[in-house]
Amino acid sequence: MNSNLIRAVIMGAPGSGKGTVSARLVKTFNMHHISSGDLLRSNIEQKTELGRIADKYIKEGKLVPDVYITQCILGELDKIRTSSWLLDGFPRTPEQAEDLWQAEKIDTVINLDVPFDVIIDRLKSRWVHLPSGRVYNIGFNDPKVRGVDDITGEPLSQRPDDNPAAVRKRLEIYDACTRPLNEYFRKKGVLVTFSGRTTNEIWPNVKKYFDGKFR
Ligand code: ATP
Ligand code: MG
Repeated sequence: MNSNLIRAVIMGAPGSGKGTVSARLVKTFNMHHISSGDLLRSNIEQKTELGRIADKYIKEGKLVPDVYITQCILGELDKIRTSSWLLDGFPRTPEQAEDLWQAEKIDTVINLDVPFDVIIDRLKSRWVHLPSGRVYNIGFNDPKVRGVDDITGEPLSQRPDDNPAAVRKRLEIYDACTRPLNEYFRKKGVLVTFSGRTTNEIWPNVKKYFDGKFR
């Protein structure tokens, strides 16, 4: 196996910029991006068995039960044994973290630390291109044409779970279930935290860290 392969996880609250930082990492370091949220949304769209199960949890801002998501993600990782990868949105619970840790050797867990007020503003103004997962924010990261994806020209939409009630639920679950994983990965010696208000502020530090560690 190529020892230059990177196996990384990106964590942070909903709206902390995981998707945007991931896109930059994937491009710069030639990694596969596996986003659990994007995977679930495409399963819903394709009306798969998993999609049918996940749909109601996601709409309410709740977590999809561990068994389904863990099996799905570990299955995806199995398909890309020979490439570098970046996991976004998984793990989210202690059970998921433990199963992942047993199954894979993780090099780095990136933790995005963004103030709460920024996160709330972002989720309210967020528009996404569902097929690719590309994210825009009205007012600070606008598409070239309003309501249209820059790359494909296809329409943008708002995520059904970006409504105020679901956002509240997602932030609650993040605090209760996911934030504690920082401590888990810190003890394993792989956690690195990046703080800032914007992705443009955070990104240069992430890049510097990856350049130092993996190049
Ligand atoms: P953002 O996309 O802004 O980071 P988020 O982290 O809340 O926000 P996604 O990662 O796209 O959003 O996930 C959306 C929903 O998909 C979650 O609210 C949850 O219902 C489900 N989901 C995604 N990943 C997992 C997971 N690892 N375990 C359980 N449910 C998940
Ligand atoms: Mg995301």
